[in-house]
Amino acid sequence: MVLLRFAPSPTGPLHLGGLRMALYNHLFARKHGGKWILRIEDTDATRYVPGSVEGIRKGLEWAGLQYDFGPERDLSKGPYYQTERLDLYRTYARQLLDDGLAYRCFCSTDKLADTRERLARSGSSLSYDKTCTHISEEESNRKARAGEKFTIRLDDSQRPARPEAQDMVFRHLKDAHASLSTDPVLLKSDSYPTYHLASVVDDHTMGITHVLRGEEWLTSLPLHLDIYAHLKLKPPTFAHIPLLLNSDGTKMSKRHGDVQVIDYIRRGWEPAAVLNWLALAGWGAKFSESTSDGLEVRTKDQEAPDSTALMTLDDMIQNFDLSMLTQRSSGLDPSKLEYLNKHHIGRMRETEPGLQKLAEGIHQFVKEAFPHSEYTSIPVIKRVIQILESRLTNMHDIPAYVPYIFIDPDLSSAEAGKLLASVPEDTRKVVLDDLVRIVDTQAWDPARIFEAFKGVQESHGLKRGQLLKTLRGYLTGRKDGPPLVDILELLGPDRVKARLVVL
Ligand code: GLU
Repeated sequence: MVLLRFAPSPTGPLHLGGLRMALYNHLFARKHGGKWILRIEDTDATRYVPGSVEGIRKGLEWAGLQYDFGPERDLSKGPYYQTERLDLYRTYARQLLDDGLAYRCFCSTDKLADTRERLARSGSSLSYDKTCTHISEEESNRKARAGEKFTIRLDDSQRPARPEAQDMVFRHLKDAHASLSTDPVLLKSDSYPTYHLASVVDDHTMGITHVLRGEEWLTSLPLHLDIYAHLKLKPPTFAHIPLLLNSDGTKMSKRHGDVQVIDYIRRGWEPAAVLNWLALAGWGAKFSESTSDGLEVRTKDQEAPDSTALMTLDDMIQNFDLSMLTQRSSGLDPSKLEYLNKHHIGRMRETEPGLQKLAEGIHQFVKEAFPHSEYTSIPVIKRVIQILESRLTNMHDIPAYVPYIFIDPDLSSAEAGKLLASVPEDTRKVVLDDLVRIVDTQAWDPARIFEAFKGVQESHGLKRGQLLKTLRGYLTGRKDGPPLVDILELLGPDRVKARLVVL
């Protein structure tokens, strides 16, 4: 079975890049009938930020990306926190030591800094001179027993043959060894593992078949393949995912605005739209490669989806293909999120469960916006969503668009004043009295009532626009908005009357 993992470090809130990584893991796993693990890479205590794991889990839950194994879920592949797996890393490091493929390094931090400086001065690209490979096994054991601090380094000179570095996105990596520093540290002097050892050991022991992770780890791939080879383990398949950038091509950072998922939750973006937006950033055309007469041939099998193509999570699962990912970093354009959000709202509005979900999602927000209103129930909100039709770009716009559904309109604004004055002041009272009488005497049917209102316009010799503007003014205080019939329906006879009896 295909098994993947999303392995964030708990160093702060979940950001968009992390969410996209989780999404791609989810898409790949589900597309191939597989599962995925949430693994918490928490071995760097200096960067640990309390509350990160809760934030990550909350973000994934909001997005509807359900991991199969991980904290608070199926525990059969755990533990999922690396700090609970320390013995495992030490066992593997010990094995390498016993096999003569790794050695203890007793150099102090100062000594290492001097060595680095000396090597750099002599024009060397190496960062360590292998001093400690010359320490005999007995001497090394004696020093360790005496309590001297040491790290464990992989002995690169003992490197067994390993497979070519291949990546599902970046393909064949040429000269993959050029990026290695000398004899990388696997276990630190506090006997915590480095990322390299921990991720190899975890991916192997958890049975991970495919590693989808950020492009920033591509340079570590040769080292990871070396560790697998030293341990005589079969590596998983790797895919490194190009980074996300701001729309201006700069690296994503807090200074450029919202990069954290929590910001998007707070601003009312639909999870479906955010996932759609993130997935399509970096999604290119699909090519297949073959060889014909000794020449490499690339054939375009499928066009890239438009970067604003509307896709649900299920659509994405069906269409996801790693070979479609571009090798370039991709920019995120906020205007595309607006477009996608509006259309996802539109799609959800069309089904009863979708409408219900939208209303439930915004219910609390509306209640908080109008804490004293009696008209913030789910059925009212559902109807509001329907009558606003395609006017809604974001569900959080509701309170600002139609406050008059929830509370009395503000008639003191210049906008309202102009509307009310469409019918001259001397006739206004009689006109309004006529409207109220219609509501009082006719059965409540908004469409019929609205038709009857038009008769009032004729009997007072008013132009159509005059009456409608004044009516809209008294009912809403706003020039624009949904059709008046819909507003009559939502307000109901009592509130309509109350708003028209003004003088
Ligand atoms: N813990 C790493 C990070 O947060 C993930 C690396 C990986 O997926 O292997 O960047």
